[in-house]
Amino acid sequence: LLDALADQAALAIERVQLVADVDNARLAEEAGRLRSALLTSISHDLKTPLAAIMGAAGTLRDYRSALPEEDRAELLTTVMDESERLNRFIANLLDMTRIESGAMEPNAAFHYIGDIVGSALSRARKILAGHLVDVQVPADLPMVRVDPVLFEQVLFNLLDNAAKYSPGGTTIRIGADSNGERVLLRIADEGPGIPLGDLERVFDTFYRVRKSDHVRAGTGLGLSICRGFVEAMGGIISAENRTDRLGAVFTISLPLLPDAPNLKDMT
Ligand code: ADP
Repeated sequence: LLDALADQAALAIERVQLVADVDNARLAEEAGRLRSALLTSISHDLKTPLAAIMGAAGTLRDYRSALPEEDRAELLTTVMDESERLNRFIANLLDMTRIESGAMEPNAAFHYIGDIVGSALSRARKILAGHLVDVQVPADLPMVRVDPVLFEQVLFNLLDNAAKYSPGGTTIRIGADSNGERVLLRIADEGPGIPLGDLERVFDTFYRVRKSDHVRAGTGLGLSICRGFVEAMGGIISAENRTDRLGAVFTISLPLLPDAPNLKDMT
């Protein structure tokens, strides 16, 4: 009986091994597919602005003296704008690599969220020019432990998306409150919102929801960077649709620490 059992066990182990081998092969294949999709996407995102820069610079070099001043200025603006886009993309890629390699070391200290909202808003001023912005951050909100540079980047990415995916002239709302355990910050827009099945996937690297989103300048990196940064600071970020009207709302939830100072107590 023991021998029979041992044989059966050996057979079972062999079968498990076989399944594991097939699984590993499938995983390796999937990883390979992902890697080449990633490289295709990165190459495309690098090539598009580069082509525009080369076109504009080439025209300037060859026809400089024949062109009216305003055309020259426009070509130079293209060079600047597209270089900025390239620069942003590369900065995003570097951020992503830092997050994925676990080399993210937030420089956290207590900050009043309203201050960081203010600096993100002034950095995004040009982007938000076509929208109305409504900010409701209570002055007595307890401070939270965040890295102000990373947190501003998260807010900037969310504001950039809100402006990009909602029609000009509509309102972008920034609200914050505290429930005693956490501080919640919300950024809501009046765009089309996000299909239910995509609410989690929008945080995936290079994920973009609609075909039409691919014509807008974007890389599908912004939200995955937001999630990486927020989680590195001990927070949670989530996407929902508004319940009061059409639109997306992104919520950042940060733990309220027992020793958190309050701006009101400090002034
Ligand atoms: P990008 O904006 O560069 O495409 P993100 O990672 O910032 O990349 O966003 C991923 C996708 O999530 C976007 O392509 C878009 O489809 C969707 N998305 C993000 N923010 C919004 C928003 N405020 N409203 C609707 N869709 C959004």
